[in-house]
Amino acid sequence: MPLVYLNGDYLPLEEARVSVLDRGFVFGDGVYEVIPVYDRRPFRLAEHLARLQASLEGIRLANPHTRAEWEGRILRIVEAAEWEDMGVYLQVTRGPAPRDHAFPKQLRQTVFIMASPLTAPPRALVEEGVCAVTAADNRWLRCDIKAIALLPNVLLRQLAADAGCAETILIRDGYLTEGAASNIFAVKDGVVLAPPKSNLMLPGITYDVVLEIARGQGIPVEVRPVAEAEVRAADELWLTSSTKEVMAVTRLDGRPVGEGRPGPVFRAMHAAYQVFKHTVMRGKAQA
Ligand code: PMP
Repeated sequence: MPLVYLNGDYLPLEEARVSVLDRGFVFGDGVYEVIPVYDRRPFRLAEHLARLQASLEGIRLANPHTRAEWEGRILRIVEAAEWEDMGVYLQVTRGPAPRDHAFPKQLRQTVFIMASPLTAPPRALVEEGVCAVTAADNRWLRCDIKAIALLPNVLLRQLAADAGCAETILIRDGYLTEGAASNIFAVKDGVVLAPPKSNLMLPGITYDVVLEIARGQGIPVEVRPVAEAEVRAADELWLTSSTKEVMAVTRLDGRPVGEGRPGPVFRAMHAAYQVFKHTVMRGKAQA
């Protein structure tokens, strides 16, 4: 039984309990992070903790811990885990309080950390790509906050599941925003197109890694609004996230993307991403 952290205690997952009056349960009033861990080394931990801080500020919730306290708690969960590679999930809610929309006077944040095994996407999916569907992005206007209130994302992602696909690619007012649980890149004529960070998408940690790798490899990048028509006419589409790394989307709404196979720019990016991860695993770089 994996060890989890809850409000100051380390205990088996089965024994962790929160109040039914927790505002996370009642209102979805909280934020979260998912941090990939390779060989028991958290990947881009500082960046995840910085995004957590931004999310907390976005919902006007005080950060219950210093950076060092977060690191200590996360590393203890990582050390206790039975896997070498894992995803660390953490969430902070506005805590238990009598049900009332307005913030409680007495604030006791609920802090929860757990780990679950992380396996890189299977080779077949990397080599063949995955399918995606498109949908109108009907979420709120603060998609930059990593809120635990994920109902719109859940409903949107289910559209992909219903179609036997991996992801739903979201379009708002004629432009690409992101995936239901990932960031999306397009490639046209060898140029990587990425929507600019804004309130309409989550600033992905993997998104940043992919742009850094592209620039390091001399792959041309344009960070600018990407029109729906460009998504549909792309030579390649990629999705990125901490748990899926970078994957090629080879069918969109039932039609092939480009030639319907992972393209050359994807293959270069995927290979470079693996090298990047391994550099971290060898501990040669605090990547
Ligand atoms: N957008 C959304 C809506 C997500 O849920 C996620 C990952 N959970 C991402 C983008 C990718 O973010 P990251 O690379 O930090 O995992």
